[in-house]
Amino acid sequence: MKVVVVGGGAAGSLILPKLCQLQKQVDSLEVVLIDSKEFFEFTPGMVSVLSQPNLNAFLKEFNKTTTLYEDLFSKFKFKFIHQRVKTVTENEVFLQNSESVSFDFLIYCAGSNYPSVFKPDSFKVFKLTERREELQAFRQQIETSKDIICIGAGIVGIEMATDLKGYYPDKTITLFNSREDFPMVQEIQEALHNVFNKQNIKVFHNERVENLSNSGTVTTKHSNDHIHYDLSIMCTGIKPNSQPFQEHFPSHINSKGYIHVNQYFQLEGYNSIYCIGDVNDVQEKLYSLAHLQAIHFIKNFTQLVKQINSPMVYKTVDPPLMFSVGPKKGISYINGKVITGFDKTGTCFVTYNRQFFQWINFKPNLNMHLNDFIYKFAHPYE
Ligand SMILES: Cc1cc2nc3c(=O)[nH]c(=O)nc-3n(C[C@H](O)[C@H](O)[C@H](O)COP(=O)(O)OP(=O)(O)OC[C@H]3O[C@@H](n4cnc5c(N)ncnc54)[C@H](O)[C@@H]3O)c2cc1C
Repeated sequence: MKVVVVGGGAAGSLILPKLCQLQKQVDSLEVVLIDSKEFFEFTPGMVSVLSQPNLNAFLKEFNKTTTLYEDLFSKFKFKFIHQRVKTVTENEVFLQNSESVSFDFLIYCAGSNYPSVFKPDSFKVFKLTERREELQAFRQQIETSKDIICIGAGIVGIEMATDLKGYYPDKTITLFNSREDFPMVQEIQEALHNVFNKQNIKVFHNERVENLSNSGTVTTKHSNDHIHYDLSIMCTGIKPNSQPFQEHFPSHINSKGYIHVNQYFQLEGYNSIYCIGDVNDVQEKLYSLAHLQAIHFIKNFTQLVKQINSPMVYKTVDPPLMFSVGPKKGISYINGKVITGFDKTGTCFVTYNRQFFQWINFKPNLNMHLNDFIYKFAHPYE
């Protein structure tokens, strides 16, 4: 039985070692990973990589945030194909180099693309060295720019603006938000107003910024401020990587580009094709949710190949939120409670927590155990 996993990001990098473990119980299980990049990258760590104030610190952080798949999964038995999937059919995937790979089961975890360097462009086939050069060049641009604007006030924009101010206190950092306020619950909004005031980062809410050039001036619509910038950083606009489904399954893609799946993450009507993580139309797009979906999938899949029990329906959960508001501080929101620290501008507890999660993502065995535990905690009755 041949199982093809497309994408070794948050979901894929948890599913792959789990499938390899299953090989011990199901002899005939052949596992293949296809990814357009040859390396694993911990996406939530990318803001920190780009904000580092010098080359040595950048290289150190880059090495903590990326690693070749062959190194990460050196203890597991699978075949890696470094290619981009161009088209998916009912029983085969076609690659950018015109080759094809057949499958009995396809686990499609191709995630989403981002309009700036926070994620490698999934339309390109990337080597680790190319990725390092791309990020290094962008970091250099940040270092040499005095006035920087960040567009988008979600997690990425908040982290980028506050990390930059933390590492470069003399730069002018401005954040633009197209909505009325930060897109979070009121308690977090209040905490963020505190943080941005204290750090002296100007935020313009309700201002949609479009058609930016490399440098220039933005005139705000409401207050008529003129904001000069040497560099703009897009921190918004994720696009699901559903293009390979466009030709053969156009009716399964919704108006925002997400692939519609059933309660078991299967492509409706096709029991052998699963779509997991950012690319499907289930819930918000978060690392922790991609992990929970991955564990749920593997539980069902294990039962399927062993031919026991019928599959369990996936139940959505409210995940805890954790994000940084500077190099050494963060805010979290767990079970309706905001944790902001004593002075209400973030706590190092969140930073240590995130560093721990990053570290464990590079230890596949521990990562599997930890996520099994988190899944049980989130779904106590299963
Ligand atoms: C800068 C940034 C910071 C973030 N911070 C947080 C955070 O703090 N907390 C949080 O919960 N979430 C965060 N997120 C969101 C989180 O990273 C995503 O929700 C998560 O990575 C989704 O996991 P995934 O496995 O679905 O996809 P990804 O992790 O995007 O993995 C997709 C994989 O598929 C590969 N791929 C794509 N297309 C193809 C193709 N056609 N052929 C072959 N391979 C392909 C890619 O190379 C990649 O390896 C952040 C996102 C960004 C961009």
